[in-house]
Amino acid sequence: MNANTRDTTERVGHCLCGDVRITAKNASNNVGACHCKMCRRWGGGPFMEIDCGAGVEIDGEENISVFNSSDWAERGFCRNCGTHLFYRLKESGQHMIPVGLFEDSDSLVFESQVFIDEKPDYYAFTNKTKDLTGAELFALFGSS
Ligand SMILES: [Zn+2]
Ligand SMILES: [Zn+2]
Repeated sequence: MNANTRDTTERVGHCLCGDVRITAKNASNNVGACHCKMCRRWGGGPFMEIDCGAGVEIDGEENISVFNSSDWAERGFCRNCGTHLFYRLKESGQHMIPVGLFEDSDSLVFESQVFIDEKPDYYAFTNKTKDLTGAELFALFGSS
């Protein structure tokens, strides 16, 4: 979601129970929100994530269940506590990781919202962000 930004930080995080620990070597400083129906069903609300690229080290991999959510992506969660760990693109290995897993929120900027056309009316963020519809997002990243 943050293809134009190369500003990254190493960030560490973990799930609620601590069985899974994540080190993202090149985590973006930009936070994105996805309002698509799948993300909202997965988490109960919009998916607030940071793009961590493919350089993600996971400690406790044996505690992760991976759900095959579409032809192009899968979603991981901790088997023990249920914490959502990543949305991963199968081809590139790119990880979108829930921003709430990470220890600190230094230098994070809420930058973009996608699938804005699927956002329900009962909430709205007031942050100034770049907003894309699902169709605009697919046009930008060329996958479907
Ligand atoms: Zn856990
Ligand atoms: Zn989504």
